[in-house]
Amino acid sequence: MALLALHGGAGGDGPWRGMTPMDPQRVASMEAVLQVLGPRLEAGDIDALTAVRLAVEALEDEPGFNAGVGSVLDANGQVSMDASIMRGQDGAAGSVVGVTNLRHPIQAAHGLLQQGWPAMMAGPGAEAWAAKHDYETVLPDALITDLRRAQWQKWRDARLHPGATDEDDAALDHDLGEEVDGPGTVGAVALDAHGHLAAATSTGGMTGKPPGRVGDTPVIGAGTWADQRVAVSCTGVGEAYLRACAAHEVGVGMRQDEADLTEVCDHVLDLVEPLGGRGGLIAISADGQVALPFRVTLMYRGLWRHGAITTGIGPDR
Ligand code: ASP
Repeated sequence: MALLALHGGAGGDGPWRGMTPMDPQRVASMEAVLQVLGPRLEAGDIDALTAVRLAVEALEDEPGFNAGVGSVLDANGQVSMDASIMRGQDGAAGSVVGVTNLRHPIQAAHGLLQQGWPAMMAGPGAEAWAAKHDYETVLPDALITDLRRAQWQKWRDARLHPGATDEDDAALDHDLGEEVDGPGTVGAVALDAHGHLAAATSTGGMTGKPPGRVGDTPVIGAGTWADQRVAVSCTGVGEAYLRACAAHEVGVGMRQDEADLTEVCDHVLDLVEPLGGRGGLIAISADGQVALPFRVTLMYRGLWRHGAITTGIGPDR
């Protein structure tokens, strides 16, 4: 049995108001990823680690999501991106923090995982390592879309506090019209034909974040976790996921015999929520359970299971 789940970020306050003009493209890109990678995973052509890397790579290329091209802008109007990836069977992990010129931050994170040491690199050091290892670099401006520039402008004009979260931005979107969207961190979790698990997450962070701010996404155990029982990718207000070690907590919960993944994930979101961590997560367990819970208006999500693809945005699906 193979499983692949994706998210494209969570956010928003109040009831879901239906699709924005950019949503069909977001959903189509998730479906395309699942359509291509699901059968390859099932056939044993790719393992779980490769599946999550390729999935996140593809979503980093989709400008409607907040990762790679289309990342949100910090308080100075610049892009800086975080990404991490983890393999369940041996706990190997790689992560990059605050990179500004990589087309695919997840590839560099994966490269660090493969290299084995260091597990985590930040800023100019990470960029120099990536350049030396021939990861594709781009001019930082090439990652900035008109949409994100407009969103940043609105954030600045509205004098939102630095570090305004995607969640705030999503709420702001409702005031500003549908052309400005908030959420969009991307993540993937997979179970492969050999029963192995992996997880990956990539983000531009939060609009208006102070330069240097680090969220949960690149921190193994906070935004991303995979072990022999479960793979997890989180999205939401990063500080709370960090403080709760949220993704790792799912791993802890799954150590119980016959643990129910939905109950474990709900319990973890209960830990995160009082810390201000509204958002969601996606998780797959080695025994084939899937949970895609969120505590906000919407979470872009998709699942490939038994050859069938399901996607959702709002609460009903
Ligand atoms: N968790 C991400 C961060 O705090 C943002 C998100 O998931 O929307 O950087």
